[in-house]
Amino acid sequence: MQEKYYKEAISNKIFNYITQATEELELESYVIGGFVRDYILQRGSVKDIDIVTVGSGIELAQKVASLLPNTPKVQVFKTYGTAMLRYHDIEVEFVGARRESYTENSRNPEVSEGSLQDDQNRRDFTINALALSLNKASYGKLLDPFNGVADLENKIIKTPLDPGITYSDDPLRMMRAIRFATQLNFSIEQNSLDAITENVERIAIITKERIVDELHKIIASPKPSLGFLLLEKTGLLKKILPELIALKGVEEVEGQSHKDNFYHTLEVVDNIAKHTDDVWLRWAALLHDIGKAPTKKFDKKVGWTFHSHEFVGSKMVFKLFKRLKMPLNNKMKFVQKMVLLSSRPIVLASGVTDSAVRRLIFDTGDDIDSLMTLCEADITTKNPKKFKRYHKNFELVRQKIKEVEERDRVRNFQPPITGEEIMETFNLKPCREIGQIKEAIKEAILEGIIPNEYEASYNFMLEKATSLGLKANIKS
Ligand code: ATP
Ligand code: MG
Repeated sequence: MQEKYYKEAISNKIFNYITQATEELELESYVIGGFVRDYILQRGSVKDIDIVTVGSGIELAQKVASLLPNTPKVQVFKTYGTAMLRYHDIEVEFVGARRESYTENSRNPEVSEGSLQDDQNRRDFTINALALSLNKASYGKLLDPFNGVADLENKIIKTPLDPGITYSDDPLRMMRAIRFATQLNFSIEQNSLDAITENVERIAIITKERIVDELHKIIASPKPSLGFLLLEKTGLLKKILPELIALKGVEEVEGQSHKDNFYHTLEVVDNIAKHTDDVWLRWAALLHDIGKAPTKKFDKKVGWTFHSHEFVGSKMVFKLFKRLKMPLNNKMKFVQKMVLLSSRPIVLASGVTDSAVRRLIFDTGDDIDSLMTLCEADITTKNPKKFKRYHKNFELVRQKIKEVEERDRVRNFQPPITGEEIMETFNLKPCREIGQIKEAIKEAILEGIIPNEYEASYNFMLEKATSLGLKANIKS
């Protein structure tokens, strides 16, 4: 076979230092994996570089650091026998070439020193096993024992060795296969798909955090549905996100059917991916209808209903995040809020009043724009007339939101009258009435009875207090 060289791929100066260190230590080293794959695919900026050496990765890293002008710190991970240093914005990771053998219950193999070929054998996919020589005599030479370059050209994910063993050894690779297929818009070779399907049970030995990392990457891809369809087809989705599987299917009663909310959801996620890179808003799109499975009912008069599915769904978000060990922080609250409010703008679209808009702005705060983006992505009708009309309605809602917010400023509502002022005015100690007065002022503003201003609120407070039997403490 003809030898190929990719010298241009390794024109970054860091590679010269690695070659020099390799010479001085009389080792062999190669750049391997994602860096080579992404160079051939011309996938843009480099964030990390993986170096494999036949010898000690830690020793090589330390040598490279000593040659670099600013002698960067080397982070050593003894248990893994790896080391990392930073060169400008790039993380360079060093590892000794190794051979791996797996046991039944862990994805962490026994490792022993090996050759470059041993190391390539342990890689997950042929497209991730590509290596370029950093040795002086063969600088830039491609080492591609499994025809990974051809698989890049044919856009296919394949394992170097038997897929049954590869996925069973480290089941995280099942998630990685689907993630790479989604990110790169590749297909997964049939043998691999079969092996994943056979090994789904083994996903149980993978930590939730690792699974979620891959899910994030799938969701952050240009067309996330590719990944979710593969997860569904192989049976992985049922293990990871059964809430989505529960949305699958169409039921018919008395000639009335509802839409398949699983495929609808995937469309919504693809739609929103065109308008936002915010992975949490994309999560919200993925989960916005999960409450529909447990709330589904058939009513003889009105047909299929999903009463309070938004509320039920937002509660399910918490359980789902908890089960997947995702942080229960503001991001989760944001997803819950989006799910909870996901139908509100739709109600508005068919008749907008100022007070309804003020309430929506008040309840949504700074997330109003995200909520509108979600609702627009939710339009998946195939009827072009309806499609146009729904979008136009939301445009009107957006416009109304802008107008009302400019005039009434309720987005980050601060009550014009504070509790302290109420206490002072009526000579009160902390008590129930203060809360009642504050709530009444807020309601009056949202309803449009009074403007969002101090003087009107002050007068309204006096009226409300009188009705509660309170007397103002006006000094004579
Ligand atoms: P990206 O950084 O874009 O996610 P990558 O290919 O660099 O892609 P990493 O997770 O950084 O992926 O791993 C670097 C390399 O290590 C991979 O290219 C692959 O060769 C190998 N690798 C990573 N994880 C596994 C695994 N679970 N099984 C086998 N090889 C793996
Ligand atoms: Mg990487």
